[in-house]
Amino acid sequence: MIGGYPLAGHGPALPLALVPVPDVLPPSTQRLAPLTTLRLGGPAARFVAAGSAEDVAAAVRAADGRDERVLILGGGSNLVVADEGFDGTVVQVANRGSKIDSLGEGRVALTVEAGEDWDAVVCRTVEAGLGGLECLSGIPGSVGATPVQNVGAYGVEVGQLLMSVDLLDRASGEIRTLSVEELGLGYRTSVLKGTERAVVLRVRFELADGGLSAPIRYTELARVLGVRQGKQVPVDLARAAVLELRRGKGMVLDVDDHDTWSVGSFFTNPIVLDRDLGAVRGRIASRVGPDVPVPQYPAGPGASKLSAAWLIERAGFAKGYRGPGGRVTLSGKHTLALTNRGDATTTDLLTLAREIRDGVHVAFGVDLHPEPVLIDCTI
Ligand SMILES: Cc1cc2nc3c(=O)[nH]c(=O)nc-3n(C[C@H](O)[C@H](O)[C@H](O)COP(=O)(O)OP(=O)(O)OC[C@H]3O[C@@H](n4cnc5c(N)ncnc54)[C@H](O)[C@@H]3O)c2cc1C
Repeated sequence: MIGGYPLAGHGPALPLALVPVPDVLPPSTQRLAPLTTLRLGGPAARFVAAGSAEDVAAAVRAADGRDERVLILGGGSNLVVADEGFDGTVVQVANRGSKIDSLGEGRVALTVEAGEDWDAVVCRTVEAGLGGLECLSGIPGSVGATPVQNVGAYGVEVGQLLMSVDLLDRASGEIRTLSVEELGLGYRTSVLKGTERAVVLRVRFELADGGLSAPIRYTELARVLGVRQGKQVPVDLARAAVLELRRGKGMVLDVDDHDTWSVGSFFTNPIVLDRDLGAVRGRIASRVGPDVPVPQYPAGPGASKLSAAWLIERAGFAKGYRGPGGRVTLSGKHTLALTNRGDATTTDLLTLAREIRDGVHVAFGVDLHPEPVLIDCTI
């Protein structure tokens, strides 16, 4: 134990009973919809829930050896699966456990198995007074998926805390350790996202052991906490404030609230090159008026990031906007979340996504790109 942090994980119960992974999996009728936060997607041809890193690696190596298609499944919170389902092997990453090692000088290394529930891990670090992950509270899904799209929220990205990941390199079948530099992390992306290259088995984070949060960078969060940007606060206060802000936006899972039956933000914030920015700003001004301030943030040399939510709303799609038959809508709490109202299909969801993407393009000439991974479907 360090700071009360248990060495073994005790997250929420797994959705499926774990059994040793056989070499050849029998055909399955496992529907993927209940394993995704959108509750959408047809069946998997073959399905295995792998409860140890060895089982995950064995299941993926076996399927690769048979040249089968493989879908790695974590919490299903960033996946849009086709109504027809997936005609290969789905491997649900369900290995559990974590440990803490002191690095000295108030720093610790937290090593977590990929199948742990992300928010349960964040909660335990906060309870133990470890600082770093608190602004990433309330994000659904598994630990192993966090480096895949470099999850981020409230001014923090997981890449800022990552030390290394252990992964199965599917080309060689070897288990390797990759440093954070080798992951090619960017805004909601990495060298792993949308590829078949590797399966994350274990993740290492460097955290601070002092009861204080990382410096608060996000304006809205600093305002709620009543501190200036750049200040640190007790780590539990930061988590509570983040969870409160996220709940107000429908960004904390709640089975009774259809505004949370989503993948979170459906589109990434668009990056516009400086050479195109004048024309885009001109279109925006002619639609919303020249004096309306346009949210715009630096995005590296020669580029700016615009707010996808702001553009969607100004293009005429308000919160609660209804897609086909009202079965899918924009969340009533957040313009960027496309939600299943209970009896939607993936086709419905993609129809709404196309309408919004095209509406924003026609209005402002800006291309929106989906944030989730689309499995056997496209917009
Ligand atoms: C309500 C809501 C709010 C959200 N808020 C945020 C947010 O604030 N910030 C943010 O960044 N994201 C957010 N998301 C998106 C999502 O929660 C994250 O992307 C999360 O990390 C996905 O984890 P998962 O385990 O559910 O991945 P899955 O959806 O199961 O998988 C996503 C992708 O990662 C791959 N993958 C999963 N596990 C592994 C592994 N171990 N090794 C290799 N590949 C793997 C899958 O094959 C797939 O391609 C939100 C989603 C919802 C529903």
